[in-house]
Amino acid sequence: MKIKFFGAAQEVGRSCIMISTDRTKILLDSGIKLGKREEYPLIDDEEIRQVDAIFISHAHIDHMGFLPFLYAKHYQNNIFATKPTIELINVLLSDYLKINSDLNFDKNILNSLNAKFRIIDYKKEFKFRDLTIKMIPAGHILGSALISVSDGKDTILYTGDVNLLKTRLLNGADIKNLQATTLITETTYGGDNDIFPDEKKVAKDMLNSINESAKTDSKIIIPSFAVGRAQEILFFLDDYINSGAMQKIPIYVDGMISKVMRIYRHNVIFCRKELQSRILMSDYDPFKSKNFKIVERKTRTEIIASQEPCMIVTTSGMLSGGPVMFYLSRLAGKKENKLILVGYQAQGTMGRDLQDGASRVTINNAPVDIRLSVETYRISAHADRRQLEMMISKIRGLKNIFLVHGEITKMQQFQAKLKDKYNVTIPQLNQEYEA
Ligand SMILES: [Zn+2]
Ligand SMILES: [Zn+2]
Repeated sequence: MKIKFFGAAQEVGRSCIMISTDRTKILLDSGIKLGKREEYPLIDDEEIRQVDAIFISHAHIDHMGFLPFLYAKHYQNNIFATKPTIELINVLLSDYLKINSDLNFDKNILNSLNAKFRIIDYKKEFKFRDLTIKMIPAGHILGSALISVSDGKDTILYTGDVNLLKTRLLNGADIKNLQATTLITETTYGGDNDIFPDEKKVAKDMLNSINESAKTDSKIIIPSFAVGRAQEILFFLDDYINSGAMQKIPIYVDGMISKVMRIYRHNVIFCRKELQSRILMSDYDPFKSKNFKIVERKTRTEIIASQEPCMIVTTSGMLSGGPVMFYLSRLAGKKENKLILVGYQAQGTMGRDLQDGASRVTINNAPVDIRLSVETYRISAHADRRQLEMMISKIRGLKNIFLVHGEITKMQQFQAKLKDKYNVTIPQLNQEYEA
């Protein structure tokens, strides 16, 4: 098999990888790169015409946001993913197309795209022409999968985004019986210093910070991906409020998060057993917690104007658009307010600039001075460097590793760690490699 990288090579974003045999060409993921300007995979029209099928690892925009573009470029074949991933893609793409109406897609494009989706169940072998494909739970967000592609001789395992630790909602990736000759792995946190601190300590620090703010009239913005981080952080806040460890202040939920919450709720069978039984056995349903206040657009200014402390959990997670921009522009000037970052902030995003200490940003072409405090708490949906190493050590028969979805310096550090045991490549954009 051959592997070609149209994106996610020495960068985070626009994951899009082609696997080819003599007879078949498939794409693993089809994402876009978010930032101050959007970037698309470097696949040309001729190559798009040759794609026989697309397999999507999970419903984040950097892994599936290019689907409408492919369809508009006359991609006609099927798109395979797990059931929750397909449902999430629908909701997120409709939001994406609404926000980006200037892209002028046909208004029926989502319906047409929908007709192309096919469900693949987790852990069932699926034959596609000369390939056998398997989706394995990846622990990253609802529906996320590691994708295994075999031609009968070699097997390529693609991580998409992977998390090995269980979270409040999901089990960690199912890495018990992994077998592959070639691994394509994300390296978001593959750097030497990417060892996450103890989860309990992070939770306690964050709790203290929020409780301190709750004593005053200050407001806390928590930007979050609509899928995954938002649900985890909301469950975290809800748990602590219910246990009395956290001051009870309003939690406003704005953006796509509540819609996505409903998809999590009816796909709870894909969440942790503990969560399922909690909902079944008790009257308490955390998905419908009274602590969450869903924000209508018109009430945003009232939230800003109120004298009460509050938390605002809203999209987008890396401050590349969405309601968070409104809240930041209104709340940034007061030093008692806080911006709490809980997810990965990619290079080139406003989230990363703020994390790195920017004192001024531009929102809607206007300068905004940053006086509020910016804090980072790593409650990650990605494996850290040690977990990635552990996962790699469990894969039977592994020879070749391609590092993707990461920053180049981190990839180089990770390559140095692995190179004695494996043949490790940091692929170039638009280059083809032997698997
Ligand atoms: Zn992701
Ligand atoms: Zn990703």
